Amino acid sequence: MTDRRAELATNLAAVRERIDRACAAAGRDSAEITLLAVTKTWPASDVRLLHELGLRDVAENRDQEAAAKAAELADLTDLRWHFVGQLQSNKARSVARYAAAVHSVDRPSLVDGLARAADAAGRPLDVFVQVNLSGEQHRGGAAPDAVPDLADAVAAAEGLTLRGVMAVAPLGADPHPAYARLAEIAAVVRREHPAADAISAGMSGDLEAAIAHGSTVVRVGTALLGGRPPIVG
Ligand SMILES: *Cc1c(COP(=O)(O)O)cnc(C)c1O
Repeated sequence: MTDRRAELATNLAAVRERIDRACAAAGRDSAEITLLAVTKTWPASDVRLLHELGLRDVAENRDQEAAAKAAELADLTDLRWHFVGQLQSNKARSVARYAAAVHSVDRPSLVDGLARAADAAGRPLDVFVQVNLSGEQHRGGAAPDAVPDLADAVAAAEGLTLRGVMAVAPLGADPHPAYARLAEIAAVVRREHPAADAISAGMSGDLEAAIAHGSTVVRVGTALLGGRPPIVG
């Protein structure tokens, strides 16, 4: 049997090293960067090991899977769950029960749903407005033009705290132009909402590019946990 703890420790050190190097190259302080471990498809036992290794922020993209893991790990009271997947409005209630943050808010109806859900759950929710940088609708995210109004709606909603913007770089393309565009959109949002200074961008393959363009939250799955089995269907 392989020693999963040692494997995760090695991967975590390597990812932190990449973040440090990317920050040094960009003239930034790596203390500005929050590392989210994207634990989708991996068992709760891996999340527990990552917590033992000092990690406090984990991300999931499906409510059912996330809710089950959060319930199993309810004893880890300082663990923060981030929801990063496309979110159906009828799942808002469930997500608000365990999540500290939702990174994938991309339409006004979801703002309303999450505000009601945060109220019902009796706990505040951090929100990132997801920006669609690819023009492909099915990948989620609001059109760049729609982002300022959506940010205003989040900021005005009781129980929600606007943290900033989030994006996934278009598949198979140079991520630099996409992340540069995201930085411009983030600056527009910050003009109206100075405290919403977070940028959730960068994954295993492109975290350096994201950090070069101001990312403050990187979402890393594969480089920490290993390759996921291919999604069928
Ligand atoms: C899966 C996922 C990630 C992590 O991707 P890796 O390439 O495995 O690091 C980041 N963000 C979102 C929204 C994801 O769904």
